[in-house]
Amino acid sequence: MKIRSQKKLVGVFCLPLIFAISSGCRRASDTADMPQAIKTKSGIEMVAIPGGWFEMGSKKGASDESSVHRVWVSPFWMDKYEVVQEQFKKYQISDPSHFKNPKNPLEQMNWTDAARYCNERSLAEDLEPCYNEETWQCNFEANGYRLPTEAEWEYACRAGTRTKYSFGNNVRKLKANAWFAENSSRRTHPVGQKKPNPWGLYDMHGNVTEWCNDYYCENYYKQSPEKDPKGPAAGQERVLRGGAWNRRADSCRSAYRASDPSIDDTCLASDAIGFRCVRKAPDEKSTEGDMVKENQSGRTSKTGFLYDDIYLEHKTTEGHPEAPQRLVTIVERLKAKGLHWQLFPLTPAPAPLECLTTVHTPEYIERVKKSCEGGTRYLDSLDTPVSPKSYDAALMAAGGVLSAIDAVMQKKVTNAFCAIRPPGHHATKNEAMGFCIFNNIAVGARYIQKKYNLSKILIVDWDVHHGNGTQAMFYDDPAVLYFSVHQYPFYPGTGSKAEKGSGKGLNYNINVPLPAGSGDGDYLMAFEEELKPAALAFSPDFVLISAGFDAHKDDLLGGMEVTSQGFAELTKVVKGIVERCCEGRLVSVLEGGYHPEGLAASVEAHIRVLMR
Ligand SMILES: [Zn+2]
Repeated sequence: MKIRSQKKLVGVFCLPLIFAISSGCRRASDTADMPQAIKTKSGIEMVAIPGGWFEMGSKKGASDESSVHRVWVSPFWMDKYEVVQEQFKKYQISDPSHFKNPKNPLEQMNWTDAARYCNERSLAEDLEPCYNEETWQCNFEANGYRLPTEAEWEYACRAGTRTKYSFGNNVRKLKANAWFAENSSRRTHPVGQKKPNPWGLYDMHGNVTEWCNDYYCENYYKQSPEKDPKGPAAGQERVLRGGAWNRRADSCRSAYRASDPSIDDTCLASDAIGFRCVRKAPDEKSTEGDMVKENQSGRTSKTGFLYDDIYLEHKTTEGHPEAPQRLVTIVERLKAKGLHWQLFPLTPAPAPLECLTTVHTPEYIERVKKSCEGGTRYLDSLDTPVSPKSYDAALMAAGGVLSAIDAVMQKKVTNAFCAIRPPGHHATKNEAMGFCIFNNIAVGARYIQKKYNLSKILIVDWDVHHGNGTQAMFYDDPAVLYFSVHQYPFYPGTGSKAEKGSGKGLNYNINVPLPAGSGDGDYLMAFEEELKPAALAFSPDFVLISAGFDAHKDDLLGGMEVTSQGFAELTKVVKGIVERCCEGRLVSVLEGGYHPEGLAASVEAHIRVLMR
């Protein structure tokens, strides 16, 4: 097995960095839900890996690990453990392993022997073998077993993490997670004895290094396709991934790449090389999992999900409905449903002051900053409690909307959902109100107009409360059509049908007040009969949704009866508008929603429609 020499150097120089970087431990997104475990027909345990995006490679690793790039991997199943010696014997192939033990991984495995095993195992389970045993070409369409692609291997190894190892950056933890040079006593060990990675896969960082299907190419990362990369068409060596009993800690990193020429029967392979199998996820899994659909123009469509832990740092008072837990519940639900990994991750940056001042006065912004940092408990009313980090969170909430808009405009994503707080639509130009500090959606609308020269913006506000702040900011502006459907009479008191805009903005403000107790049918009727004709006549260049989910039937504040499926239906209407008017350009921004489960279920239903 050939290990490139520069990697050994990397291992030495990166140690101080490993301790300095600890980004992994704080994020809510690291509490990954376990994908489903499966037992195959012949009793082998596998893990159903959901499809998803991830960042492949490493900036700090060896040159063949760069450049870091986003890759989409379709759903697949992967062996929970490395293939062990007792499994191999079932197919009457003689066991080449050096360290004999039925539960130890197979080693001294040529690549072709590994591929042959995949075919035997497929036949034993009545599946179509993937490998042509003359050319050793892999048929990825077959439903049988094969070796993982490098992308699949790294995606599964990372299990949603971006750190050096699947357990973080702390190399001292490697001993609990892997058999490698420092703890192996120079031999392999029975599989499954060390801690699994967050997706329940064992020995990804050590024991034996594992064959991938791909030919090795040092520069492959610089040219690989975005969706399901399968490696170069030809080569002299095949890729190996994961560390081994005789390798140092650096070789055990998630992004570490190695290769070996022992791909056919004539070469003797190393006793540190083994493998594990994967197979295509059966169709019923992949339909839900596969978010990548080609539209007419052949462009890949994706939905972005913007979130950051800073939003949890805006602390309200105990028992306040607008609590950090709202976002935690949303993220947990998306993970539990296997959706989180399919969404394109977007991260916010603080909104620049010149963007905030398009809708807020500089004095107000300064007052918010001083109040939060100075330890003030409430902003302007008892409704809006703040904590020392609330100003930072509020800047990032508005800035998050801008990042999502950029991602849509730069075609990184087709549309996006911003899981942000504090919410925004009650905030006026110089006052905090109703849990809102900065008017995130209004800042977003002005940003689209200024930065991208798109003049006509439609804001659809289905929060149960009327968005008085947003209405006021665009009341005389014919370039921004504000449409709100809300419970009425209700907080904040505005939102009657008679409020239609003023001056040039007359008729560019549409309120549909609904009585308490209104449900899916009433909302849908408002959308079909009032929103749709007005929106199509206006023909927006970009659509923003003030997506509050407090009209949900279980909500603690709202008195409406909308179901999560109802929100999906409303989303479909808006999506129909953006597809007809503005090439699908849509950013949806969280406002209210105070029943955590009802909120999370509604966000899930909403996002599922965005992803279609
Ligand atoms: Zn609300």
